Amino acid sequence: MKKTFLSSVLVAIFLLTSCGKSENSSSSKDIKNSKSVFAMDTYITVTAYGEDTDKALKAAEDKITSLEKLWSVTDENSEIYAVNHSGGQTVGVSPETADLLDFALDMHNRTNGAFDISLYPVLTAWGFTTDEYRVPSDDEITALLENTGVDKINLDSQYVTIPADMQIDLGAVGKGYAGDLVAEELKSNGVKSALIDLGGNIQTVGTKPDGEKWKVGIRNPFGEGNFATLEIGECAVVTSGGYERYFVEDGVTYWHILDPKTGKPADSGIASVSVIGSEGRTCDALSTSLFVMGLDKSAELWKNSDDFEMIIVTSDGEIYITEGIADDFELSSNFAEPKVSVIGR
Ligand code: ADP
Ligand code: MG
Repeated sequence: MKKTFLSSVLVAIFLLTSCGKSENSSSSKDIKNSKSVFAMDTYITVTAYGEDTDKALKAAEDKITSLEKLWSVTDENSEIYAVNHSGGQTVGVSPETADLLDFALDMHNRTNGAFDISLYPVLTAWGFTTDEYRVPSDDEITALLENTGVDKINLDSQYVTIPADMQIDLGAVGKGYAGDLVAEELKSNGVKSALIDLGGNIQTVGTKPDGEKWKVGIRNPFGEGNFATLEIGECAVVTSGGYERYFVEDGVTYWHILDPKTGKPADSGIASVSVIGSEGRTCDALSTSLFVMGLDKSAELWKNSDDFEMIIVTSDGEIYITEGIADDFELSSNFAEPKVSVIGR
């Protein structure tokens, strides 16, 4: 398995077709209702089980649409757009945006700077925000990095101030938090069993309608299909990988997750990392961060934490999983080859 096989993969995790099927098809629990929305640059599908879920699904859809309106970097009416075009002035934001910003700043500290929401101008220079890909010169990157740095962001309750030449983007954490808020919305509308698929980020409510665990596939970062399955209860599973958005120039692959220290695609030896935990926003922020940090630092962070488990596939095709999910993890039959190492405390 080599990086050259990175080509045809789009989505990190697919729900296996077995999910949600139940033995007793006549039961009201088996009634399944889905809604798909294109938002946050991805197809989001919410599937709820049980009777009378129409209202809950409509509420979920409205929630997704409203969050996208707050956090879009390109929508001129979004709160993030207002912050990015404030010319250094203080901007008032909604509680959801303030919460997410506060969380993103915490994550920066927790990951020793690997998680950085101020990289937007650098991502633009690489063409990742426009799909007009190019390799910027070292001088250009150095100049752009002068204006990054999460410590220059000031968040005072619901008021945000960033320097005039800084731009922020919540792309690495927004879908995760949206998953949390949509799950909450479904629960408050009486839903006991649901699965939210945010373009590969999975978030569940309860168990499958028959009381069994959900079974999700973990995407092979080197080619088609899943290399493993994971059984989960109510939680989030979020994967980041270099294969999700990338371009190749002169035989070198450049992907969309940057190392804030270099302003270049993170090259830590990880092909993909999946993070499993009760909070979607934590899993999302960490999946991006661990991809930057590499295996050893990720293992160290895991040992000092109690809110996530992880599956790391290295660029050499080795698989590392943490002990908390070892019993629920199974390699797919066509992937019996790779060695799986369990990381313990
Ligand atoms: P995806 O959203 O593609 O599923 P991620 O959650 O890993 O994957 O987020 C990647 C996005 O995060 C990039 O497209 C970019 O907007 C932003 N980003 C890139 N590098 C970083 C970083 N080091 N810290 C925070 N955000 C980043
Ligand atoms: Mg992420």
